Amino acid sequence: MRGLDVLERRTGDGLTDEAGALGPDAPNQADAPRGESGHGRPLLFPALAAALALAIFLFDSLSSIGIAVAVLYGIVVLIGATFSDRRGVIMIAAGCALLTLLGFAIGHASDPEEEAPFLRCLISLAALTVTTVLAVKNQTATKVLAASEQRYRSIFQTTAVAIWEEDYSQLAAALDQLPYRNPADLDAYLSENPAFVRACMSLIRTIDVNDSALRLVDADSRTQLMTSLPQIFTSESLPMLKGLLMTVAARRDYYEAESLLQTFKGEKRSVFVAATFAPEPHRFNSVLVSVMDITERNKVQRALEQARAELTHMSRVTMLGELTASIAHEVNQPLAAIVSNGQACLRWLDRPVPDMAEARANVEQIVGQGRRAANVVQRLRALSKNSGPQRIRLNINDVIKEAVSLVDQELREHEVSLRLELAPGLPKVSVDRIQLQQVIINLAINAMQAMRTVEERELRIASRMSQEGLVEIAVSDCGIGLSDAEMAQLFTAFYTTKPQGMGMGLSICQTIVEAHGGSIRAERNDGPGATFRVLLVPNVPGAS
Ligand code: ADP
Repeated sequence: MRGLDVLERRTGDGLTDEAGALGPDAPNQADAPRGESGHGRPLLFPALAAALALAIFLFDSLSSIGIAVAVLYGIVVLIGATFSDRRGVIMIAAGCALLTLLGFAIGHASDPEEEAPFLRCLISLAALTVTTVLAVKNQTATKVLAASEQRYRSIFQTTAVAIWEEDYSQLAAALDQLPYRNPADLDAYLSENPAFVRACMSLIRTIDVNDSALRLVDADSRTQLMTSLPQIFTSESLPMLKGLLMTVAARRDYYEAESLLQTFKGEKRSVFVAATFAPEPHRFNSVLVSVMDITERNKVQRALEQARAELTHMSRVTMLGELTASIAHEVNQPLAAIVSNGQACLRWLDRPVPDMAEARANVEQIVGQGRRAANVVQRLRALSKNSGPQRIRLNINDVIKEAVSLVDQELREHEVSLRLELAPGLPKVSVDRIQLQQVIINLAINAMQAMRTVEERELRIASRMSQEGLVEIAVSDCGIGLSDAEMAQLFTAFYTTKPQGMGMGLSICQTIVEAHGGSIRAERNDGPGATFRVLLVPNVPGAS
């Protein structure tokens, strides 16, 4: 408790005396008009100057003493400078010069041949001139200083930032008396002795505070704030106060920290505190502490962080939902194929003489579709994780033919005829085989479903080199076609017009095609139906 003893001694002989002298109702020093001490007796100095000038004149003109008495007129000018402005000082100096000349004329007119009095007169006039110039210069400098002081005071009072002007001399002396020279030791001591840190605050003498400071802590009066500084600190202010004490002990010039204060009405305020110390030797006489209320900013920031966390969670949930929906959508087709192959297989086995070869072919189909479903799931997971597709350079026509073979069964079920128009000699394209198959299968199944209610059902899949030099796959049908509303939302996830639809097919197609650096678009046909065009860049960089 050594530190607290130190504090008790210091508060005993220092702060309480001073606080007492200041008293709770002591007028604010900042409010007292500065530099007006001489204005209480306005006639004293002019009278003094006039009397002095008269005395010098009489002595100069009547005595025959051999010194330049008129030099003393300089004092008259200096006194004049305390109560009159620049013009007044020049007038007083001119008056003194006249008196000097008059004194010379009266005292030495009888012996014009004598040089010494003449020289003394010249010296007096020169001294008078120099004194006048210096007095006027000094007056101007004082005025500039007063104006800048005034400007500083008005900034101090009117700024929106709360400012405390404080004297830390006693606080610094108390810290110096502690036996801890090493910052780490002092840090440890302050951490273990919050009572000392708090007590240190009563050693701070508040010199002045501005209106913003009063508002910040809801103080009723300047006096309340100036005499009760420790009341605005809570246990949450301790880390900031500790940092401040460390700064004082280390003689650093600046300290800033975020903290919590409490108003005189008991409300908590989040604040940003910055303390600036003057250069030596007045380091602790006038410490400027500015405090900014950041309660609202912190509230907004917390709300933003919460909103961001919620958004991240939402987007994860949405992504998970999309992934689940995508898997369900994409696995549906191979599953349907597995079921119908299974049923066919059973029929072949149930025959009086089971046809093992056909049954085997069905089982092979089942195995193939099962593998495909597993691949599709794997690729979809890769897509959702944003990992790039597994590309190899392929002939697009081969991928189209493989995809078509996988929807063979659906073509038969929907009684749709297939027309393939595959351009020969197309450049190879770097694509993920399974993903591109998924695109073609989705477009083909949509096309078949769009033709469910029409008589003429033909699915046309074409490949060609587009005019822009891209490899194009077009999937066309002669089904119900696309309305304006549909055109606008086709590729949006979960958009569907089908009772059993999931609205994921086209969204998956777009994700896959864009991951390949390509594009997909839908068009209305001139005749019935719609065409979906996939455009891919041949030889994408990074191709294997
Ligand atoms: P789903 O097929 O589950 O509805 P998609 O994303 O594949 O999901 O398709 C979204 C919607 O786009 C469909 O519900 C349908 O209205 C429209 N659509 C897709 N392809 C065609 C097509 N070939 N002809 C007409 N409309 C289509």
